[in-house]
Amino acid sequence: MHLYIHIPYCRQACHYCDFHFSTNLKSKSELIECLCKEIILRKDYLKDKNLQTIYFGGGTPSLLHPQELQTIFECIHQNFRIDPQAEITFEANPEDLSIDYLKELFDFGINRLSIGIQSFSERNLYFLNRNHSLKQSINSVEFAQKVGFNKISLDLIFGIPGYDFTKVKEDLNLFLETGVNHLSTYSLTVEPKTVFGIQKKRGLFQEIDDIEMAKQFEFIIETLANKDFEQYEISNFARNGEISKHNSSYWFQEEYLGIGPSAHSFDGKSRQWNVSSNGNYCQSIVKGVPFFEKEKLEQNELINEFILTRLRTTWGLPLEKLTQMTQAAGLSFPKQEIEQWLEQNYAFIEDNHLKLHRKGKMIADKLSADIFYLSEQ
Ligand code: SF4
Repeated sequence: MHLYIHIPYCRQACHYCDFHFSTNLKSKSELIECLCKEIILRKDYLKDKNLQTIYFGGGTPSLLHPQELQTIFECIHQNFRIDPQAEITFEANPEDLSIDYLKELFDFGINRLSIGIQSFSERNLYFLNRNHSLKQSINSVEFAQKVGFNKISLDLIFGIPGYDFTKVKEDLNLFLETGVNHLSTYSLTVEPKTVFGIQKKRGLFQEIDDIEMAKQFEFIIETLANKDFEQYEISNFARNGEISKHNSSYWFQEEYLGIGPSAHSFDGKSRQWNVSSNGNYCQSIVKGVPFFEKEKLEQNELINEFILTRLRTTWGLPLEKLTQMTQAAGLSFPKQEIEQWLEQNYAFIEDNHLKLHRKGKMIADKLSADIFYLSEQ
């Protein structure tokens, strides 16, 4: 079973970000109390109390003071059992990772760090409105390694306007120099409610074209492959088997409990999502009124999600399971489409699993959408 805790605060808003967070930290103590209350309220959501992974995401979990983190861990320990081998991941921003703070994190049993580097270019950090410098990025990784974290993941964004192919190469080289074994990399997407989204609406933001974007991504895939990284999910690369167990649990439709404003939960049949407002979340928890919405997933939605997530992974889409699922739902198997993908060299079959070639990975979500089952079927 898996636990996600959302820490909904950031120092400043990055220009591309549409996650839920607030830059007003005044309510932080009250919110932490509410997170603990929610853990108690929902401790029976997961039938099994043994946690295999815990993930602190956000927002910026590294804005938590060690004392606040201790409060949350005590609450988790009182209500769940943490598997001795559990993966405990903590998202952090480089500017927060001093040696002392990292030691505190290590002592709490946190054994995986996900550091939001985003770019090794000062120009890009400024452009994206990140709150850290290149020096802080390099220091944060070195400090974490020094303190003893041997599972570290970095995030990098590509497809940033004004940042050409050779710069992506420099970014990637700096990543490789860190010796870190996990990278999550995403193309810059412009969401409507972000600063970039508003600039785009006013004609002040020019995205890079799809061909250049694809070229950059292919270069990243190729370079990392040459350095023994496996692209185990479209956006995630790992070396020495250091995959993210927590994120993999989402792709394998395992059950998870999400705590905090905007956090989602999944119990195998329904999805539940908490209100995306720190104020409303706390008020509702305190008053004992609902703070989430819930929907039971239809058979076709479960199958669509199964196709979408599995196709994005290196393990592929298990065809026997898909046959069973479609038969049980009275839906037709997408035989024709799959044959086309094989013919067009987008995919191949290995051990009865449908897997994507690189060409297919570039358009994985589109391929999945082509065989999605509509609710009326
Ligand atoms: S990208 Fe991360 S640090 Fe920046 S605003 Fe979003 S959640 Fe906060």
